[in-house]
Amino acid sequence: MSVLVYADASQNGKIKKASLEATTLAHQIASKLNDKVVVILYKGNEESKQKLSQAGAHKIINITNDIPELSDFSVTAKLIQKYIASENASTVVLSYDNQGKAVGAYLAGLLNCGIAPAVTSLLEADNSTLRFRKNVFSGKAFATISLSGDKKIVCLLPNSIPVQTSANSSAEITDVTESAPAKNKVTIKSVEKTTSGDKIPLPEAELVVSGGRGLKGPENWGIIEELAKALGAATACSRPVADAHWRPHHEHVGQTGLAIRPNLYIAIGISGAIQHLAGVSGSKTIVVINTDKEAPFFKAADYGIVGDAFEVVPKLTEAIKKFKATQQ
Ligand SMILES: Cc1cc2nc3c(=O)[nH]c(=O)nc-3n(C[C@H](O)[C@H](O)[C@H](O)COP(=O)(O)OP(=O)(O)OC[C@H]3O[C@@H](n4cnc5c(N)ncnc54)[C@H](O)[C@@H]3O)c2cc1C
Repeated sequence: MSVLVYADASQNGKIKKASLEATTLAHQIASKLNDKVVVILYKGNEESKQKLSQAGAHKIINITNDIPELSDFSVTAKLIQKYIASENASTVVLSYDNQGKAVGAYLAGLLNCGIAPAVTSLLEADNSTLRFRKNVFSGKAFATISLSGDKKIVCLLPNSIPVQTSANSSAEITDVTESAPAKNKVTIKSVEKTTSGDKIPLPEAELVVSGGRGLKGPENWGIIEELAKALGAATACSRPVADAHWRPHHEHVGQTGLAIRPNLYIAIGISGAIQHLAGVSGSKTIVVINTDKEAPFFKAADYGIVGDAFEVVPKLTEAIKKFKATQQ
């Protein structure tokens, strides 16, 4: 039997951190069940294959050709269904991102099986049941989800588990060409991919600099971007900032935005409402800069600076630049 992972690297050939996390979880499940981890990789480069192998894949099937129909997630689900049969898979692990949420739901419908969405860790696994933990009530409590039945689908919340980097470095790798599994009701005429240039994608970032309403307006975001650039960090924001169109919505973190778990989260001019904390409280180290010493965020902070962002942040940026210059 096997545990199957679907990893889409078609954007630029590079594997996403979220797919490596899904492979790590698949390896944890497979180790308990004495199963193999099979990754269906879509257009991955050599480095992707190596990283998947290190994260625990025993077998990697790399689809090398373009299949535009896969931008319809119901088609992706059908493709995975085909490999579930050929690889004798009992469990499918997906990342709980936009693609995984949709593909997981379609797949659960096709297979008529249970799905565990947004899990954060594996608790137990035996041949009949898998048990996972997930956050509920904005991270204030945990729930245990059990899956039983012949087929099981698990969606892992990104940044919930560290990526394994040395499980196995000799996965069996096969390059294949595939065709779209079924005729669709929707015809895809062309696919345009967005590029974020050299910016670090927020869900993948290890360092994040985030701004809130305390920044007063979009014209002041230069100090956030300068600090992020000096650190090599991604930028994020609170929800009111995105709602006011000061920043794009894909930067909004929290209960209704992205959930991130970087190594360092610097919150500038953000009060620390429970809905914001729901998306960032898993960060390894939290630094808060706020004029109000009573701001709730200080309770969740590892380091706090009570001060005006417009004075503190440029000084911090300068200090980081100077420090980096001494390291070269
Ligand atoms: C159902 C629901 C879902 C929600 N989901 C989310 C979510 O996903 N993400 C999210 O962020 N919010 C979410 N919210 C909104 C949330 O409740 C808060 O209103 C929001 O997080 C506040 O944003 P803020 O901290 O940027 O602004 P504010 O609460 O206005 O805080 C601004 C902070 O900046 C400080 N400040 C002011 N001037 C300066 C200065 N010069 N230097 C330094 N600090 C300064 C102030 O002291 C204050 O603490 C949700 C709300 C609801 C009801």
